[in-house]
Amino acid sequence: SKKPSVILQCEDITVSFDGFKAIQGMNLTLERGELRFLIGPNGAGKTTMLDVICGKTRATAGSVIYSSSDGVIDVTKKKEHQIAGLGIGRKFQAPSIFPTLTVFENLEIAMRQRRSVFATLFARLTAEDRERIEQQLVMIGLQDKASWRAGGLSHGEKQWLEIGIMLMQEPSVLLLDEPVAGMTDKETDKTGELLKEIAKMRTIVVVEHDMEFVRNFASKVTVMHEGKLLKEGTMDEIQSDDRVAEVYLGQ
Ligand code: ADP
Repeated sequence: SKKPSVILQCEDITVSFDGFKAIQGMNLTLERGELRFLIGPNGAGKTTMLDVICGKTRATAGSVIYSSSDGVIDVTKKKEHQIAGLGIGRKFQAPSIFPTLTVFENLEIAMRQRRSVFATLFARLTAEDRERIEQQLVMIGLQDKASWRAGGLSHGEKQWLEIGIMLMQEPSVLLLDEPVAGMTDKETDKTGELLKEIAKMRTIVVVEHDMEFVRNFASKVTVMHEGKLLKEGTMDEIQSDDRVAEVYLGQ
């Protein structure tokens, strides 16, 4: 039988903060292997939407249904750590790397954390473990900097290491908040290529303000405005929509 292609379905999500509706009846459906961009003016509810998916914020109404490899799971009322354990990973803007440890060690710790067995904390790395870390280093483009202190990396390289740390948990869905903020043009392009590569195996949702980045790498874009879905489509469709232009001009 064919695998269902939908991996995540957010239905009729509403989030109220003390009566203020940050999200009002938002729908978001993701297909497996998508690199989806979530855009919209400040305060549109983009970050809150990611918070709902990863369980950081509880939806006031609506549901989040996740089709994992183990079956269909309603994650709406699950806790953040449970959702992470089910394969939905969130990268926050705050750094999670250990600056005094090497790039390699940062990935090693992430790998050991996933196993979560205390005994493995001091166990020696197997050849297989090393291989996995090496592969991850190649993927994030840091194979030549494996022995560098993570704190000595450039801003862009630190962001790639963060993504590498996330990948060591082997998430099916990655939720990223402005991954190219503060990056040079070259770093931004490399990040786009990296995300495209990752999306061959996994599904990614990116909240983004850098419109050139979105234009260069998005296949499908979701525009939010005032807690609702305003428009969904290709970047061409988004750019030629009068209502989208209006909400951006109004900023
Ligand atoms: P975006 O990411 O699109 O800029 P947010 O999701 O951060 O928008 O915020 C959507 C709206 O919800 C904003 O008006 C914001 O002020 C409000 N909001 C977000 N988080 C909270 C919170 N914890 N308490 C109260 N209001 C919040």
